[in-house]
Amino acid sequence: MNWLKGLLVLAAVSSGTAEAEEITDVVLVVHGGAGSGRKHVTPDIEKHARADLELALRAGEKVLKQAEGKSLDAVEAAIRVLEDSPWFNAGKGAVFTQEGRNELDASIMDGRQRAAGAVASVTILKNPISAARAVMEKSPHVLLIGRGAEIFATKQGLEVVDPTYFWTEARWKQWRTLQQKTSQKPLDAAHTWGTVGAVALDTQGNLAAGTSTGGTPNKQYGRIGDSPIIGAGTFADNQTCGISCTGHGEFFIRYSVAHEVSSLMKYKNLSLPAAAEDVMQRQLKPIGGEGGLIGLDAKGNLAISFNCEVMYRGYLKRDGTVKVLLFVEK
Ligand code: ASP
Repeated sequence: MNWLKGLLVLAAVSSGTAEAEEITDVVLVVHGGAGSGRKHVTPDIEKHARADLELALRAGEKVLKQAEGKSLDAVEAAIRVLEDSPWFNAGKGAVFTQEGRNELDASIMDGRQRAAGAVASVTILKNPISAARAVMEKSPHVLLIGRGAEIFATKQGLEVVDPTYFWTEARWKQWRTLQQKTSQKPLDAAHTWGTVGAVALDTQGNLAAGTSTGGTPNKQYGRIGDSPIIGAGTFADNQTCGISCTGHGEFFIRYSVAHEVSSLMKYKNLSLPAAAEDVMQRQLKPIGGEGGLIGLDAKGNLAISFNCEVMYRGYLKRDGTVKVLLFVEK
């Protein structure tokens, strides 16, 4: 099947948007969002984004290196680092809604038994990914929103902050610029990237995936994107793959992107990279569904596919080597 591999590599190169070579032996992959507006990635932003993506990978590595370190813990640890960083659109550093507030969404999924948890439109939880995990493990539900999610997470002892904690000058300036525009499509505002996600594989062969976001800049009050929707922004099943998405959420919901990748593997026998490319390039790109996804299968094969200019991403191999990339680069 070498000719087929060749074709896939060629497709990846010609779309110019994915890691072209086959990448194996990966135990953790993270992303820091995808979108347009490469010109907005200043050297300062670039430096911090690269450094924090690496920190997130190392936080996950610390977990995975422990005897019986769990993929679920690695995903949570990596995402918490990115939520605490002001350089990403998740936790501290989240974008503002039209009303000038921060409403956060997150989800997590355990590939062992397809257990999942999510929170949406939360405003006071420092680490929404941990709240999503608490929903999965400590409640009979999958998705809690708003006040209900906040009360639940508070009762679980998760850290609560004043909403002003999420304020950053850069996002505030972005919001003010967007407010002054009279008409715009939600994602026309460049530098939309910043959502974060992680997928991990542990030594037990278990996959886990998670995603956390502030949503789209200047979104309507109450808008919820794909990130907290299981099967859209996040999915994990040991039989196929773990996936975390980023991009124009409405498209990712309509195309059930994360689950679609898994289904292409399960029912059409596609490899993970081929399934990821199919969804991102063949299905989403023609209809304007801008964004990307990261994925791992249970053997440690990596997929990263995106159909836009920028995708912050990085991965950790079993031997401890790490690679962080922001654009179409080697
Ligand atoms: N997918 C996220 C949302 O639509 C945004 C992003 O990934 O940039 O809320």
